[in-house]
Amino acid sequence: MSKLVVIALGGNAIKQAHQEGTAEEQFRNVAITCEQLVKMNALGYKMLITHGNGPQAGNLLIQQEEGKTIVPSQPLDIVGAMTQGQIGYMFQNTLKNYFLKKGKDIPIVTVITQVLVNKNDPDFQDPSKPVGPFYTKEEALKLQKEKGYIVKQVKPTGEKNWRRVVPSPEPLQILEANAIEALLKARAIVIASGGGGVPVMKNGDGTFKGLEAVIDKDKAGNVLAQSVKANIFLILTDVEHASKNFGKKNEEKIGKITVEEAEKLFREGHFLKGSMGPKITAAIRFVKAGGEKAIITSLEKAIEALEGKTGTIIEK
Ligand code: ADP
Ligand code: MG
Repeated sequence: MSKLVVIALGGNAIKQAHQEGTAEEQFRNVAITCEQLVKMNALGYKMLITHGNGPQAGNLLIQQEEGKTIVPSQPLDIVGAMTQGQIGYMFQNTLKNYFLKKGKDIPIVTVITQVLVNKNDPDFQDPSKPVGPFYTKEEALKLQKEKGYIVKQVKPTGEKNWRRVVPSPEPLQILEANAIEALLKARAIVIASGGGGVPVMKNGDGTFKGLEAVIDKDKAGNVLAQSVKANIFLILTDVEHASKNFGKKNEEKIGKITVEEAEKLFREGHFLKGSMGPKITAAIRFVKAGGEKAIITSLEKAIEALEGKTGTIIEK
């Protein structure tokens, strides 16, 4: 039986930190990423892909701000859905072309995904996730007054050192899980829960409502992987390993570890909160829920890591 791998792609898979984010740049990065995905397909893995959207949502939010005197500005849930379509399309197009060259006709489908969160999640009380453009203090306070945004100073100095912050609640459930499973059964390569999915809450009558919040894409990736009973959760980022004592003289790469060892390292504070922390948390949750293994490595090392030769591998 071929194994189902959920692949969480980091920011660098679509836009490098130093790039502006032109369509050409993004397609070039996606092409490099897709080369790895095509190799995984050739090795017989079934694939469900998820991805970040920070830079794309950031740029779209700037367009909402700058264009608001000409066309209505769209809220964050819609911006999130827009980036799922945008990035999904780039992968659909690029993968399709690669497979065409190999004479393979594989359906590739993006599912715009809604992810249930609890409206009482503590992060709604104290939002933590900066989004969109940087503002001066005056601009930020004006937006606070006019639009009810929560704004915070995010850098100690600089002229524009304020940003809007939004809650980053825990993902609970993938609303489109059954549809995604059916597509995987039909042998499609599926792209889902991009940018962590659009966060939605349940209304009193059981219906759902989109929220202005951002879900961590690795944590949502774990919920996605669990809900389709994936064998492997592969988190691809810009480092080959998670490390102990990250950035210090005694930094040490982490190879194969158990869940208990990962939990201990997490408690000891080796993983930064907004970056490696959620990856380790997501990996631990996946293996604890019965997943075979979770891997954290770089895009280039994906295949080697699947073969057990490199990367940080968390197993029971
Ligand atoms: P992505 O876009 O892939 O989610 P992030 O920037 O969120 O990427 O996370 C990857 C980054 O996590 C690395 O580039 C590194 O700077 C940082 N990081 C924090 N703690 C660690 C650690 N203990 N080991 C390795 N990298 C770490
Ligand atoms: Mg990240």
